Amino acid sequence: MTKSVRKPRGVLITGNWKMNHGPGAARNFFAALPASVMNSGLRAAVYVPDVSLVAAREAAAAHGQAAVRVGAQNVHWEKSGAFTGEISGPMLAELGISAALVGHSERRQYFGETDTTARKRTESLLAQGIEVVLCVGETREERESGRTNEVLKRQLVAVLGENGADATHPARAYLDGRLVIAYEPVWAIGTGLTATPEQAQEAHAFIRSLLTQVAGASAASKTSVLYGGSVTPQNVDQLLACADIDGALVGGASLKPESFHALLTAGAKALA
Ligand code: PEP
Repeated sequence: MTKSVRKPRGVLITGNWKMNHGPGAARNFFAALPASVMNSGLRAAVYVPDVSLVAAREAAAAHGQAAVRVGAQNVHWEKSGAFTGEISGPMLAELGISAALVGHSERRQYFGETDTTARKRTESLLAQGIEVVLCVGETREERESGRTNEVLKRQLVAVLGENGADATHPARAYLDGRLVIAYEPVWAIGTGLTATPEQAQEAHAFIRSLLTQVAGASAASKTSVLYGGSVTPQNVDQLLACADIDGALVGGASLKPESFHALLTAGAKALA
């Protein structure tokens, strides 16, 4: 079933370093990452710990990798204030950073992220000119009880609204490439269990149909939907061959330059 298909939205390969790679390791990563594939039209980003944002961005530029965008993993929706331990959009802008993850399942599981706070972050960051990858996905129990689509719908509708007439969800205006969705089944994150291409394509097609319902066919056709969950250089080709999979959000396999480079090479190949 995984015949190669055209990629109308291009391909976006992204890495989530989680709580790994301080500034020194970030510099070493870019020093060891070959620059070759980035002139293929591929888009790429890494989401790094806040303390490594500047080192990663500077090292990427110094090693001819400026096309790999550097972003944050979590950002507060307020611009400043009494929020101990948080960082804000204007702080990122001051560093020249304009990309962030929102609603990663580890934020939802361990740090109290909810559909409501994911919505607040998404709206606020997009309005501040920060491009967002919004993460959604079901747990194992939700999948096993047949509730995958219900969960995806709940998580997406919380941010984008229910139907075309609902004007209270400003994030929808950014479904032109600035808001990216990452489908990350929670049971596949960091577990070595990858969704099969068929399972992933089914969920991505559902997300695309939901985007069409809430924001129209044009917005849905411009919005990249990434797959995340134990993506590796070994399984990425099959996933990228699926019609509605526009790229990958990769944790573990994004940490080593050689493995991230193999993922970038696969992304460039899927574009060709
Ligand atoms: C992630 O952190 O978003 C992720 C998908 O991790 P892993 O690739 O390690 O499963």
